[in-house]
This record gives sequence, structure tokens and C-alpha cells, in this order.
Amino acid sequence: MSAKIIDGKEIARQIRAELTEEVKALKARGIVPGLGVILVGEDPASKSYVTAKEQACHDIGLFSDDNRLPATTGQAELLALIAEMNADPRINGILVQLPLPKHLKESEVLTAISPDKDVDGFHPTNVGRMVVGEKAFLPCTPHGVLQMMARSGVKIEGAHAVIVGRSNIVGKPLANLLMAKGAMANATVTVCHTKTKDIGYHTRQADIVIAAAGRPNTVTADMIREGAVVIDVGVNRVEDSSKKAGFRLVGDVDYEACREKASMITPVPGGVGPMTITMLLYNTVESAKRANGL
Ligand code: NAP
Repeated sequence: MSAKIIDGKEIARQIRAELTEEVKALKARGIVPGLGVILVGEDPASKSYVTAKEQACHDIGLFSDDNRLPATTGQAELLALIAEMNADPRINGILVQLPLPKHLKESEVLTAISPDKDVDGFHPTNVGRMVVGEKAFLPCTPHGVLQMMARSGVKIEGAHAVIVGRSNIVGKPLANLLMAKGAMANATVTVCHTKTKDIGYHTRQADIVIAAAGRPNTVTADMIREGAVVIDVGVNRVEDSSKKAGFRLVGDVDYEACREKASMITPVPGGVGPMTITMLLYNTVESAKRANGL
């Protein structure tokens, strides 16, 4: 069997088309959703992420307030900018690109963002709301994973989902969302990590395997059962002298081998990646609607 490929680019395109229509309708009522973006420093990967986010805002008609600050920016200066954005009615979402330079206190910065503008869904208030099942901004990558499964016809309710990885931005929120009561949820969830004794023992029982470890070949074909759905969140650079950049991107899953055994699988690149920015746009539009009582 060769798996159906879940095309993240195409699903992201569909959602962005839906958002473009929604933004048009909001603009007709005088509402222009806006995203405030803060990048501190010169990290090339962060720069390219931020540029992609700004471009995505532009493409669907959002206002974006772009702030590129030098690596020497102090904590107080950064907090003052966030306070300004919290009070600015043109801005519905605030995104601080991580990682921040070492001298800045990341958790203090993220907590300074108003929970009502926390479109990354990292603020403890939003994390808490998500865990207890209240209305919250959902973290973008886990929400993107749910959307791509739901839109591909993956049956989540009643499924056994095994997640490899327990980070605060991917593994843990995904586990919470999948085990929640409600739509795109009601799964039975197992979470594996570096101290799990035999990861394959767990993944072989899974209807859905989600790899979010940040290490190539964490999930190999012998670790999945025939017909499983395999979602690969990982993005890893591996050296490749045949590429101009000197590297290529691979996920955490042995894609070619797992593809022969799975029923559905996401590629890297072109799988989960395009969904993350899309869900950031979704949260920003959602925030603008909430700010206007819609
Ligand atoms: P992270 O903070 O480094 O967390 C990795 C998690 O995986 C940890 O919980 C770690 O366990 C676990 N882990 C690492 N190696 C493992 C192994 N060999 N076996 C079992 N568990 C293992 O990473 P992250 O931020 O969650 O990101 C994970 C991957 O997703 C990365 O490749 C990242 O680039 C990618 N990512 C992609 C997107 C996207 O938009 N596509 C977004 C976010 C992240 P311990 O807790 O025990 O250390």
C-alpha cells in the first residue's frame, strides 16, 4: 500500500482563501485585522520566518506592523514596545519571533503580551484556557495539525494517537487538544519522550503517530502499524552537498519507508510547515472579530 499524501500546502491554501474572504467582509465593515511582528537580532532563520509571516499577512489583506530591532535591544525597551502594541487598537495579534537573544528573558516577554492579542497561544492564560476547554487562541502548529487531519478525513474521535515529543509548543498542547472533548478531538493519547523505554511499543499500537522530536528517523517503518496515519512535525537540516544551500530539510519520520505502510502521511517540506503560519493568520482574524464583538 502506498499512503495518501496529506498536502499541507494545498490545505493551507484553502484556509488562506477562506480567510481572504473573511478579511474582505471585515474590511467592508471598517475592520482591518492587524498583526504586530517583533524580530530582535539578525538570526537568518528567524529573519526568513518573519519575512514569510509578513508576506502571508499581506497576501490575505491583513495590516502588519513590522518591527526589526537590533540584537542589543534591552528587556525594558522590548517590554515598552509590547505595552504600546497591547494598547494599539490597529493591532489584534502580537508575534515575538523566538528564539530571542540570550540576554532577554523570553518567558517575561511572552507573558507581557496581552492574552487577548496572544495569537501564538503561548501565554499561560491561553494555555490554561486551552487545557480546561475554554475559548483560547490555540497554538499554531498543533492547531494546524488538527486542521490538516480533519480536512483530510482522518477519524480522530476514538483513535489512539501517539505523540513523540513533549515540548510546550508542540507535543504537550497537541496531547491536550487531541484528548479534549469536542470536534477534532476525543482521541486516546500517549505521549513519548527521551525517557520513554520503548517508543516503538507505543507507536505500533497507534492509529495516528505524530512525530515532533526534532531528530531525523525518530519514527521508522518498523515502528508503525499497517494503515496508520503518520504526521511529521519535525524540520531538520541534514548536510547535502548536491544542494546549493549545502543542506536539505527532512522530518522526523523515515518518509519513504513509512509511506509504503501508512494510510496517510505528511511530507517534509510541504506538510505541517505551511499550516503553522496559516493558523497564525487565522488567530489574528479571530482576534479582530472578538475585539469587535463578532
Ligand atoms: P523541542 O523543544 O526540542 O522538543 C523535542 C521533544 O522531543 C522533547 O520533548 C524531547 O524529549 C523529544 N525527543 C527528542 N528526541 C527524541 C527521541 N529520540 N525520542 C523520543 N523523544 C525525543 O522541539 P519542538 O520545538 O517541539 O520541535 C520539534 C520538531 O518540530 C523540531 O524539528 C522543530 O523544528 C519542528 N517544528 C516544526 C514546526 C512547523 O511549523 N512545521 C513548528 C514547530 C516545531 P525530552 O522532553 O525528554 O527532552
